[in-house]
Amino acid sequence: MATAIPFFEQVNYNFDKAARFTQHPLDLLTQIKICNSIYHMTFPIKKDDGSIETIHAWRAEHSHHRLPTKGGIRYSTLVNEDEVMALAALMTYKCAIVDVPFGGAKGGIQIDRKKYSDSELERITRRYVYELARKNFIGPGIDVPAPDLGTGEREMAWIVDTYIQLTPEKLDARACVTGKPISQGGVCGRREATGRGVYFGLREVCSFAEDMKPLGLSVGLEGKSVVVQGFGNVGYHAAKFLQESGAVVVGLAEHDGGIHAPEGLDVEAVLAHRNDTGSILNFSGATTLQNPAEVLELECDILIPAALENQITGDNAHRIKAKIIAEAANGPTTAEANDLLAKRGVMIIPDAYLNAGGVTVSYFEWLKNLSHVRLGRVGRRFEETTHTNLLHVIEQATGKKLSEEEITKLGHGPDEEDLVNSGLEDTMIVAYNEIRETQKQCGEAVDLRTASFINAINEIAQSYMELGIFP
Ligand code: GLU
Repeated sequence: MATAIPFFEQVNYNFDKAARFTQHPLDLLTQIKICNSIYHMTFPIKKDDGSIETIHAWRAEHSHHRLPTKGGIRYSTLVNEDEVMALAALMTYKCAIVDVPFGGAKGGIQIDRKKYSDSELERITRRYVYELARKNFIGPGIDVPAPDLGTGEREMAWIVDTYIQLTPEKLDARACVTGKPISQGGVCGRREATGRGVYFGLREVCSFAEDMKPLGLSVGLEGKSVVVQGFGNVGYHAAKFLQESGAVVVGLAEHDGGIHAPEGLDVEAVLAHRNDTGSILNFSGATTLQNPAEVLELECDILIPAALENQITGDNAHRIKAKIIAEAANGPTTAEANDLLAKRGVMIIPDAYLNAGGVTVSYFEWLKNLSHVRLGRVGRRFEETTHTNLLHVIEQATGKKLSEEEITKLGHGPDEEDLVNSGLEDTMIVAYNEIRETQKQCGEAVDLRTASFINAINEIAQSYMELGIFP
């Protein structure tokens, strides 16, 4: 069994690998790499039975080169200082790769959320916000949390509510957190955003014939076999969008095991089965695998780890059969496994690019909150009228009458969800082409992860140089 290298060290290993391909001075590279601030807090919470428990929580702000800093908050027993620093660093590089103007941050509360009642979780969340606010670790222009593992819209609603109560005079208070329910200032499409981003990213990756050929794959997603590890918000949505585009989901895994069906699983039916039984296991027509790790080793074209970090390691890398590893989770492949797989010609689409859909749409939500207007509200009707008028002119000029249905479809003005999805699609396409371009320029020695880090380092270095601190 290989000794586990600390997560932050692994991120820095990838950073150093990429830094060699840049021309920046060492001092500047050190400044980019280092975690700027880390706040470890402990606080008591009163449980429903009257007992008191001490909670450990963290918030790491990795880079202040752009403000606010941005990143999710996870509730997990595995949360520790090294993990939040590593994840905060990944957020910095992620934002730079997709050109979202934030520094990176990450927070975590070391709890097993299943062991707490809803009211206990609410007390923990509100107290966490209070602690962050006391030390100036939260605010629309300071540090803006979002959902991550074990948290969702409900927790974000508690966060915004607590923050508004603490700062009633702040006009922009709602922009203190993203991933909120729509009624609390959330944006349409945020829930699906990370999974949809994974889909847009994979679609772009698979669109280049010359990149698919060495893998023995054809162009496009149609017919490609996919295995997804993790059936939470990200894994479920990635599987759903990929299936809708013609890919075949042959395997799924959760913490309690996996399911395998070479002819394909119906993602919606698996979700319904889990809702009924509490587990994806024993899904009709599929083979149940008791050990979830086995699912990673199934025969497939694309393997999507969408759960935790350190899943593909030096121990199991040689058993992975996928031709493409699409990192929907943060840090699923260790540095050791990355190098072993790269040697075998496996294509790894790095997390810092592929799962950036969440923070990209968080950026749109933040902009919506700062502008105090729903995206599309001002222009939608005007665009609809303009399109419809244009269609009528075309009808007159050509003598061809369009049906009511055609007019409605073609005349449609973009609503919030259309704009969010279009912005997300554009972001994922542009960023991938930039990464690919860098990889082509640097040659064989550089994989997609290194290329994406090179782009991130150059982007961050530029912002420091604009400040005149470094030569
Ligand atoms: N937790 C997500 C991530 O790791 C989203 C972060 C955000 O929206 O700020 O990218």
